[in-house]
Amino acid sequence: MLLEIAIGDAYGAGFEFCGHEKIMLSNTLEKYVPHELGIQAGCYTDDTQMSIAVAEVLLSDSDCSANVFADAYVRCYKRDQRLGYAKGLQGLLNLCGNGADLRQRISPESRRNGAAMRSVPLGLIGDKKLLALAAREQAIVTHNTAEGILSSHVVAFMSHALLYDKAKLAELPELVLKMTGFALRNDWFAEVECDALQTLHAVNTALQANRGMSKLLLDCVNFGGDVDSVAAIAMGLASLTPEYVVDIPASLMSGLESGKFGSRYLRQLDVALAERYPVLNVHLERQP
Ligand SMILES: [Mg+2]
Repeated sequence: MLLEIAIGDAYGAGFEFCGHEKIMLSNTLEKYVPHELGIQAGCYTDDTQMSIAVAEVLLSDSDCSANVFADAYVRCYKRDQRLGYAKGLQGLLNLCGNGADLRQRISPESRRNGAAMRSVPLGLIGDKKLLALAAREQAIVTHNTAEGILSSHVVAFMSHALLYDKAKLAELPELVLKMTGFALRNDWFAEVECDALQTLHAVNTALQANRGMSKLLLDCVNFGGDVDSVAAIAMGLASLTPEYVVDIPASLMSGLESGKFGSRYLRQLDVALAERYPVLNVHLERQP
């Protein structure tokens, strides 16, 4: 789960809001590409780091409250400062020493996709009511808006439906509609802004159109725009269904960052999550 999120994030990060020419030329899956703003090839960004924070909350004995999530976001950033965050949030994270500090300083009125991008791990929560509550709590730290909270709930619920209900991909939109009232589109084609709801439509469109992770990655990047978030969420969800063939190129497996919080750490975290939430086990067995 986290490994695939990171691969989607790191692959997409090289193309985030880049020109169309770069996508045409380099979206070949041959290798990770660096981003002109300083993100090195194979390095993941905020999407993965905040998903790690959510996963660490799930592994702890803490309650899933906004304060606990806020602490985790600050802790994960402080121990491993990296690029890819929105400027405003990165500035705050640099200033803040803990979650309470962050919550005091932040104006959490964003309708962007930051709450959705870190929500795949929330699908591990077995109780749907607790899942909805956790989605809300984690979202309101930074995205205390109807769109921010809804987007987190939708992603978390898609993840949950794949994990626990063994839902077919084709069934997801109807299940999401029933659970959240949100109608996922499967015909997104435009560049994806950082917008929460656009991101959901793009993720669902790419997820429904493919059954292999390689083609999924290509499609996510081809949208253009905020493609690292789209690819991170889509790859995370694809890792939770046997309908998806795990055909990630070897170059992307070996090219993912290998530092202290790199591929090994992500695999360890996935194993720890599967120990705590055995429903994840069968999917980790498919991990390359
Ligand atoms: Mg990002």
